[in-house]
Amino acid sequence: MNTEVKNVVIVGGGTAGWMAAAAISKKFSPLLKITLIESDEIGTIGVGEATIPPMRTFHKLLDIDEQVFMRATEATFKLGIMFENWGERGDTYIHAFGQTGKETWLGDFHHFWLRAKELGIAKNFGTYCFEHQAAKANKFSTAPNFNLNYAYHLDATRYAKFLRQMSEAKGTTRIEGKVAEVTQDSTSGFIKSLRLESGQVIEGDLFIDCTGFRGLLIEETLKTGYEDWSHWLPCDRAIAVQTESTGPAVPYTRSIAHDVGWRWKIPLQHRVGNGLVYCSRYLSDDDARKTLLESVEGKTLIEPRVIKFQTGRRKKTWNKNCVAIGLSSGFIEPLESTSIHLIMIAVSRLMQLFPFNGIKESFVNEFNQISRVEMEQLRDFIVLHYKTTEREDTPFWSYCKNMEIPSTLAHRLQLFKETGHAYQADGELFRIDSWTQVMFGQRLMPEHYHHLTKTMSERDLQNFLKSLEENINRGVSQLPPHSEFVKHYCAV
Ligand code: FAD
Repeated sequence: MNTEVKNVVIVGGGTAGWMAAAAISKKFSPLLKITLIESDEIGTIGVGEATIPPMRTFHKLLDIDEQVFMRATEATFKLGIMFENWGERGDTYIHAFGQTGKETWLGDFHHFWLRAKELGIAKNFGTYCFEHQAAKANKFSTAPNFNLNYAYHLDATRYAKFLRQMSEAKGTTRIEGKVAEVTQDSTSGFIKSLRLESGQVIEGDLFIDCTGFRGLLIEETLKTGYEDWSHWLPCDRAIAVQTESTGPAVPYTRSIAHDVGWRWKIPLQHRVGNGLVYCSRYLSDDDARKTLLESVEGKTLIEPRVIKFQTGRRKKTWNKNCVAIGLSSGFIEPLESTSIHLIMIAVSRLMQLFPFNGIKESFVNEFNQISRVEMEQLRDFIVLHYKTTEREDTPFWSYCKNMEIPSTLAHRLQLFKETGHAYQADGELFRIDSWTQVMFGQRLMPEHYHHLTKTMSERDLQNFLKSLEENINRGVSQLPPHSEFVKHYCAV
């Protein structure tokens, strides 16, 4: 379609809708008319409170002041995720955001660590990661000399409000109401307008579907289709509840495996977010509720709420003149807090490829191709956690350990097992550090390591590791406690 795009309509006012509105209005507002429609009656999903470090880049793009943002969303800092009971019951490891060890011209650090382990001179892999040690010690600072790599825990509802204020200040028009009907062009099938229950009609050139799982435009209207990944990611429900804090907030998310999935604990300044992710084939909603309520600490602040989902991706995230962003585009599952990240990169990509001169097929194909690869790479990283468990103590874990996995992941696991080689694919979000931390954490040990490490004497290797450890410990000892830092940083 060669019509110039001047009129953008965003449907949905959750994290996805308001992130899209905030970024597009900030950068393009003199060029475009931006309208956001949201329904108070339907509301938002109300979860999605753990993030990953690239969010800071997105905030820079929007000129968001970190202290203002943290105050507005009751945010805390996040240095990684602590995984408990995943490899085996009783196991604990941290997937921290930082670098483990040091890059050398010889090869990746984990090869040196594997050799040292064989020689009996290596400590736990996490010993050599600053963020890992800071998280364990509940310490944190944003001071540049520490250079910690971090993300946030935030209150999702407050975050949407915060972005709404920014978007409206930049010219986004918000309309409250429920979309009752979608009109398409009879020839092209492009969406022409939306009719609200109030009777108001809203026309647009480009529609951004941020309506959550239902995908009001991308699926209910355009019938785009969905690729189901539930055979690889079998959890299909979550039950979430907020509780009062019972102690100082820790700078990491907790992900605690249970018999049929896992449970999250996300500490904010004013409360804690909790949820149980599970597979309905093996656990009823009532039992999930019971398990969750038995495990949370602190008084519950809301009634627990069951959320149903299907892991997978929309076959095209951009179809005709509709771009799906957020849950409407697919959902992997919240284990590595990747959904808000996917929103952010989809919004950034849309802006980079923005169809000011009309929607061209080449644009659309490019957008869809990149989105597909991105989702598949993230999917593989999440499936890794389930597949490499050694647990077979329940039917759920037994299924995960023995299930078929995507060929791309099977190749990676075999390569790592046989040679110790780990890699970050082109454009992939998770770095080698992430892959190795999780693989070792899940007890996956390679049969070999790179022999170039043998050009370093045992003594030099021992000194190298010792000096890394000492530097990290020195750094950690100088950091303030996380909760004290947050209190001071967010004071008005
Ligand atoms: P929603 O929040 O569902 O918003 C949909 C919007 O569409 C609402 O405003 C609604 O009113 C509107 N709408 C729908 N139909 C209509 C209509 N007919 N007319 C008008 N408006 C309409 N992500 C992370 O990054 N980190 C996490 O830790 C994390 N945890 C999660 C845990 C769970 C259990 C789940 C399910 C998801 C989690 N996510 C997480 C994902 C995250 O919650 C979402 O990516 C994020 O909240 C964005 O949601 P959304 O805006 O796409 O949809």
